[in-house]
Amino acid sequence: MTDLYRLLPEEMEKMVIDMGYQRYRADQILMPLYFKFPKSIADIKQLPKKMIAEMVEAGYTIGSAKEIHRVTSEDGDTTKLLLNLTNDKSVETVLMQYESEKENGLPRSTVCVSTQIGCAMGCTFCATGQMGFETNLKAEHIVAQVVHFEEIIEQKKEHITNLVFMGMGEPMANYDEMIRAVKILTDPRGFGLGQRHITISTIGIKEGIEKLADEDLQIGLAISLHAPNNELRKKLVPTATKDSVKEIIDAGHYYFKKTGRRVTFEYALMEGVNDSRDTAQELAELLRGNGSHVNVIPINPTAGDFKRPSKSRVFEFKRILNEAGVNCTIRIEKGTEISAACGQLRTDIVQIK
Ligand code: SAH
Ligand code: SF4
Repeated sequence: MTDLYRLLPEEMEKMVIDMGYQRYRADQILMPLYFKFPKSIADIKQLPKKMIAEMVEAGYTIGSAKEIHRVTSEDGDTTKLLLNLTNDKSVETVLMQYESEKENGLPRSTVCVSTQIGCAMGCTFCATGQMGFETNLKAEHIVAQVVHFEEIIEQKKEHITNLVFMGMGEPMANYDEMIRAVKILTDPRGFGLGQRHITISTIGIKEGIEKLADEDLQIGLAISLHAPNNELRKKLVPTATKDSVKEIIDAGHYYFKKTGRRVTFEYALMEGVNDSRDTAQELAELLRGNGSHVNVIPINPTAGDFKRPSKSRVFEFKRILNEAGVNCTIRIEKGTEISAACGQLRTDIVQIK
């Protein structure tokens, strides 16, 4: 079985040519796939009946996601879905639409996709990490999450404008499928999103960051640092290597050098853990003068006992970084009341709701 959502446009062309059809048939499949959302090959009316039968016979399918649960935040800005994928597993995906951030009169619509079910990295403050690793998602499962949301908002004449790989799982630990999905989603003959509208967030796997830098793509990179030294980092990210902080900074530089795209360091701020003035100063020293950008995320509640620092502590942390010349923003998360914010995705919790 081959899901058509798995194929790059050039592979789609090869498929139709190998079947004895002309190249333009590939576009007759691609266009509806990303704009009309057919549920079966027979739904692609432009194709000759004979070709449809041959494709079905050869084992091609269209694997759409099935929605099994939906929660929307009170303000309507955040929607979390539990989707059943063709691997018969369920995954959480989040859509964020902020009225305040309009582009050409339409809201910016960002999908936060998952690349794995669970995660093997075991970060102590992350609900996904705490559920352990279940499975890697295939490219078609990643694409299906985006296409599903596009189908929903297209009814309001809105479109997905941005994509962040910040859902369940570590994208670099599922590199080949992740990058295949990125290529399909950014190909003008595929889903057609601009590369600059995509951000990959990683816990900091050096080989993955370097490989991504060498892809010659213009996608954004966010590295989850969380601590300015290895000793503290190891407590939060148990799978980190003993040199992880240095490796991450070096890999970030390499990414910037190769792509020209500024790297964002994410820093989940936890009361009494990594939010002291000294820690802020240490972080500032580490990043000073290299054009880095720090995104501070006051921790979102999960099952663990980490607490979000007070507002004044959060602003003080930012001030120390700023005064040292390090660019810093605070990410005010939406969707926490429906457990749709960063680090809160955990399928078993949603299923029992
Ligand atoms: N595995 C990748 C991407 C998914 S996590 C990574 O770790 O980067 C996406 C972001 O959510 C990361 O920056 C992660 O550190 C952050 N995060 C995880 N748990 C969180 C929590 N409880 N509160 C706030 N942010 C959290
Ligand atoms: Fe995995 Fe990222 Fe969660 Fe760590 S923070 S457990 S890497 S999803």
